[in-house]
Amino acid sequence: MAFLKLLLSTIACMAILVSLAYATDPSQLQDFCVATSDPTKAGLDVPANTNNRLGSGVTLVNPMNLAGLNTLGISVARLDFAPYGLISPHTHPRATEVFTVMEGTIYVGFVTSNQANGGNKLFTKVLNKGDVFVFPQGLIHFQLNIGKTPAVAFSGLSSQNPGVVTIPNAVFGSDPLISVDVLSKAFQLDVGLVKYLQSKFSTGS
Ligand code: MN
Repeated sequence: MAFLKLLLSTIACMAILVSLAYATDPSQLQDFCVATSDPTKAGLDVPANTNNRLGSGVTLVNPMNLAGLNTLGISVARLDFAPYGLISPHTHPRATEVFTVMEGTIYVGFVTSNQANGGNKLFTKVLNKGDVFVFPQGLIHFQLNIGKTPAVAFSGLSSQNPGVVTIPNAVFGSDPLISVDVLSKAFQLDVGLVKYLQSKFSTGS
């Protein structure tokens, strides 16, 4: 009987783990997921590799590497920035992000959804060590290290599976690529420039 209960609980936990269609995490039915109750993950003191073209790296802690988070509707990330490193404009379709600067000076911003007048309002701030900023769920946002030294921040995210849509990659690097006709008209760009951008971001074969 105990085994059956554990099995059912495990199946329930797994079902929640793979439920990607929810806009927000479901409410808990138990204190924690009995099948995955390890509440420890080490190593978030280690910087991510920022030796890439954006000069940034993210270490995400979610139920895949901290099993005890499963079903709790929350996750955390360490964000590392080389000098002038950028985390490109992106959205988290399933989470609000609370961003805390631990080291450095970071220019951040988010853009509202379409307003009644057809516009989109930009909110920005220069953050210093100890400052906290919130990026509302689903809105496009970015973080840029504007200092000469590496920067570090930690983010709490209101989902165990926040998801990321990196705008340049999603728009110009999808697999297969979005039609050049669509992108040149949408962005009011020359076809050649669209093809150039696609060559920069394409990851498909
Ligand atoms: Mn983010």
